[in-house]
Amino acid sequence: MPASLRRGLVIGNWKMHGSVSETEALLRQIMALCETATAEVAVCPSFVHVPLALRLTAASAIAVGGQNCSEHDSGACTGEVAAAMLAELGCDRVILGHSERRRQQGESSALVAAKCRAAHRAGLKAVVCVGETLEQRESGQAQTVVAEQLQALVEELRPEDSIAYEPVWAIGTGHTASPRQAQEMHTFIRGCLGAARGDAAQRLRLLYGGSVKAANAAELFAQQDIDGGLVGGAALDAHEFAAIVALAG
Ligand code: PEP
Repeated sequence: MPASLRRGLVIGNWKMHGSVSETEALLRQIMALCETATAEVAVCPSFVHVPLALRLTAASAIAVGGQNCSEHDSGACTGEVAAAMLAELGCDRVILGHSERRRQQGESSALVAAKCRAAHRAGLKAVVCVGETLEQRESGQAQTVVAEQLQALVEELRPEDSIAYEPVWAIGTGHTASPRQAQEMHTFIRGCLGAARGDAAQRLRLLYGGSVKAANAAELFAQQDIDGGLVGGAALDAHEFAAIVALAG
């Protein structure tokens, strides 16, 4: 499938930022600025702000997702949120395997795959993050690490899911992967998916994440296998985020 047939997609990962009033103001601005966007747009607020975001976006094309979900459908899991709870509210997707969770919560690739299955059971699309650390890249392990992360869940993936390649060394650091480095890894990822899943790999959208901003998005999104971005810091600035969305259109 030619890249042009995969619709551009930009997802804002708001992480653990914002009060209720800040979240509302940010989202209202984003909705106004992205009203005519041709790219698909989604925002992923903290769990407590999800109902607010869904209410505000009810009449807009902006989708709302979670930043994580439990691998279990329900039960004695204090502090966890089930995929079905997100789906019942109106979320259509969930970010899984973000490197902050892999590092801070010790999430393994097997756990991320179990969460992906849980998301699908609830009817959510998965946005699965993969990526290597600086040490792994410098020791020539980048592709091995990403292949291992993909291997665990490749059988779970559906064409409507997306994979976000987020080199850990580029997240929140201001150091973006060069368009060539990013495209190289995206080609590798599509190749891994293709080997396991055939044609479905061509439909899956591959997002780049790691210090994406309006100033570098055009070059990144011009790459054949980069279908959009998972945006952290720049997603907290409505004008910056909207400029990135426009470049993914
Ligand atoms: C992220 O955390 O998903 C991310 C890409 O962050 P940033 O854009 O701030 O690097």
